[in-house]
Amino acid sequence: MTRSKKKHKHLKIFTIKTILARAHNKNTIVLEHNKQKYRIKVHKSRFSLFKRNRVCSYCGRIGNIFVLDQQRKCNVSNIYKGNDVYEGIHLNLYCHNPEQGDFYILMTQDHIIPRKFGGLGSGANVQTLCCICNRKKGDIITNKDIVHLTSTQKGRKYIKRHYLKKGPDFLKQIQVI
Ligand SMILES: [Zn+2]
Repeated sequence: MTRSKKKHKHLKIFTIKTILARAHNKNTIVLEHNKQKYRIKVHKSRFSLFKRNRVCSYCGRIGNIFVLDQQRKCNVSNIYKGNDVYEGIHLNLYCHNPEQGDFYILMTQDHIIPRKFGGLGSGANVQTLCCICNRKKGDIITNKDIVHLTSTQKGRKYIKRHYLKKGPDFLKQIQVI
């Protein structure tokens, strides 16, 4: 059982193809469940990451479904904000394989170089991690992160720029996990 399952109530499952096709170049996406329309905000950097990569960089789990989720803490009677927008209703990517049990493992966007070390929230500095690996990683930079960053030209440029800005002390922040 993952923390995400406790935090969210799963309303409806969508295929990757359906969501990516509808979310393309949009700021919001309207999804229906039980004849009710839900207008969901599309977070550009998260969606463009999940469009190009839905595999956890650490353990290889694959995000294979999108789920319309309702945060359990939200009371249905007071979450309507008008224009089909409901507070606490989100679209999340999960790794879910029914033959391996009823687990929904939330897939997240990780900042490879954490924000507290000056890492950016988009482009080469984001990677897909499942929530289990993301929790283990915490607020550190790992050797796996550096391998991931240096595997592309864009990533190598980013790390070089970051290193030049932060100086040699930046390397001391790297931990092996
Ligand atoms: Zn993982």
